[in-house]
Amino acid sequence: MSEAVGQAAEHDAHALHALLAKMPAVERVIASEQAQPLIAQYGRTQVLDAIRATQDGWRRDVRTGVLAHENKDTEPFSLERMIEAVTQRLAERTQSRLRSVFNLTGTVLHTNLGRALLPDEAVKAVVQALTQPANLEFDLASGKRGDRDDLIDSLICELTGAEAATVVNNNAAAVLLLLSALANRKEVVVSRGELVEIGGAFRIPDIMSRAGARLREIGTTNRTHLKDYEAAINGHTALLMKVHCSNYAISGFTKSVGLDELAPLARQRGLPVAVDLGSGTLVDLAQWGLPAEPTVRATVEAGADLVTFSGDKLLGGPQAGLIVGRKELIAKIKKHPLKRALRVGKLTLAALEPVLRLYRAPEFLQERLTTLRLLTRPASQMQEAAQRALPLFQRAIGEAYAASVEPMFSQIGSGALPVDVLPSSGLVVRHAGKGGSGRALLRLERALRELPRPVIGRIADDALRLDLRCLEPADEAAFAAQFAELRL
Ligand SMILES: *Cc1c(COP(=O)(O)O)cnc(C)c1O
Repeated sequence: MSEAVGQAAEHDAHALHALLAKMPAVERVIASEQAQPLIAQYGRTQVLDAIRATQDGWRRDVRTGVLAHENKDTEPFSLERMIEAVTQRLAERTQSRLRSVFNLTGTVLHTNLGRALLPDEAVKAVVQALTQPANLEFDLASGKRGDRDDLIDSLICELTGAEAATVVNNNAAAVLLLLSALANRKEVVVSRGELVEIGGAFRIPDIMSRAGARLREIGTTNRTHLKDYEAAINGHTALLMKVHCSNYAISGFTKSVGLDELAPLARQRGLPVAVDLGSGTLVDLAQWGLPAEPTVRATVEAGADLVTFSGDKLLGGPQAGLIVGRKELIAKIKKHPLKRALRVGKLTLAALEPVLRLYRAPEFLQERLTTLRLLTRPASQMQEAAQRALPLFQRAIGEAYAASVEPMFSQIGSGALPVDVLPSSGLVVRHAGKGGSGRALLRLERALRELPRPVIGRIADDALRLDLRCLEPADEAAFAAQFAELRL
């Protein structure tokens, strides 16, 4: 730093300290006319806290020199500045941390963005459960204490063909509970080709040890035979287990043992077979042109004694883990102390019931079940929406970028059907200038994330891609209205 600049900075610092000493006192700010609407909205306590925090922030900024340079404001610590800062601080503090976003990642069941979106029927039921007392564990027929599973188990059984059912917090909890209740200190036989890790630290071997079960790995990564299961069964075996390879596929020289072979073996040895289906759909998705997935009913019919699956993946409901199967096994699972710890709340049950009921009218399912509606949208719809958005979007991002409408592929997500993709369409943005493309794209990606309702896309192959599959017509206007606020 040159001497002259150094002196100027020092002079600045002195001036700032002098101004800081005269900043309005807390009492003056709180008594000011401008503070009154803030007090009415947020309450005196929060306003006081915000004033003090703002003062502390100013002192810190002056001390550390953040404010010393380039500060052209002649009255940086006036009452007006204070009210501005306090208003902003209060607004930020009261903004919910859990915010609505636009999921334009192309992944419909995006775990990080909350997975399934629920239909209106579920929303209404949740609002009711939130605001009115309900018979959560109260048997209206007898006037006695009830069981929360009773509200929903017959519907689950009707839709899956199972004898009994129970619901817990998520599918990871379902697997943990099942293993804890049935295989503690015993062995569970699983093929090496099915020892999966689902995102977020759900790994079959780990969950086994947490449940106190001993994993008996059999076969190899690519090939497991019925004789491998036969050889592994011994006096300590509690369970034969199959796990859906949700998020990966093995191809080439492979062999796995289907339930058609495994169930008879298990029956012959007097052992139950459990299947962790992961996504677990209740209907055959092939009828809508989607890739086929084993349904829960087909899995039960093929001889699984227990099946676990998620509520918020292909089923399209709230976060939950469903366990269906033989009556005596479900009864044993329900008696385990962990069931109490992993049970679902009333909001989950309230949301799950109307979603399940939609499956009774398969004719309307594609329209009414949000997840299915999104998964089955034709690419032409997304293409038209992209064409509508393109001119405004191009104007908002400026000449440094070139946007176009291009075909792309969506993913189902949440580990379902990892190799299958859905034809879609959306906006693709490339950096128009020479060089620095990576940084420019990251800047745009961040600017989109900083919008009032953040827009989440993805960068791939030197372009930012916004897949419009999950932008339904009702949301298009809100999406476009934000373009003007884009700060690049
Ligand atoms: C997704 C998945 C889980 C975990 O389910 P959550 O509902 O996310 O807890 C477990 N097993 C398989 C095979 C899965 O695909």
